[in-house]
Amino acid sequence: MLEVTGLRVAYGGIQAVRGISFHVNQGEMVALIGANGAGKTSTLKALSRLLDAAGGSVRYCGKEVAKLAPHQLIAEGIALVPEGRGVFPRMSIVENLLMGAYCRNDTQGIASDIEHVFSLFPRLEERAQQLAGTLSGGEQQMLAIGRALMSRPKLLLLDEPSMGLAPLMVQKIFEVVCSVAREGMTVLLVEQNAKLALEVSQRGYVMESGEITLTDDADKLLANPKVREAYLGE
Ligand code: ATP
Repeated sequence: MLEVTGLRVAYGGIQAVRGISFHVNQGEMVALIGANGAGKTSTLKALSRLLDAAGGSVRYCGKEVAKLAPHQLIAEGIALVPEGRGVFPRMSIVENLLMGAYCRNDTQGIASDIEHVFSLFPRLEERAQQLAGTLSGGEQQMLAIGRALMSRPKLLLLDEPSMGLAPLMVQKIFEVVCSVAREGMTVLLVEQNAKLALEVSQRGYVMESGEITLTDDADKLLANPKVREAYLGE
């Protein structure tokens, strides 16, 4: 579904992503793991066109999308849940969800998708009219995922959904991500929590200093001594 070849991202003279190549098959959950500053967020930002890549190709469903605008990517079925969530703090939960559907005009479909998001995250329904800025970090993460789902994506790009959250909240959020994946969503999951990411993914890529240094089935990466030592704290 997604084929990235030779992707490069630079900030001035700093090469954050140095020509990486990877792919995600339809229906897969794939983890991109790595330490702080490895270039994971820059990769997702380039894929979702929040910043311009310095080079490389991004093919999605057989089509080159490296130069499309962000709103065109949403229409193609690619949605990003950004690092730090990026909810609109002065808008209510419902208004945030509607923002996720801004490229749609099927009123009934939008209403039923809001119900679907509420069924995934009942906490959001209980607080439907609450301003997003007053939600807890975990609730904001639920809202950011719900908002992304409102565009009816085929490919979900998730940037560090576990960041800064208590273990119980992380568990809840990952349960929903896994259930969405089981329903057929393709997911590219960026995580610093390598153990968690590899446990829920089928395959993984390890990123170090802007390069992909290792790739394998997730269970093999979990058993790999190098990965265990560097990323699982063993
Ligand atoms: P983290 O898990 O900490 O978010 P990451 O793997 O997502 O790390 P990036 O955020 O992509 O890594 O950062 C990769 C490199 O690019 C780092 O060296 C970082 O300092 C640099 N970088 C990121 N954003 C910018 C920016 N806006 N301007 C300059 N350098 C940047």
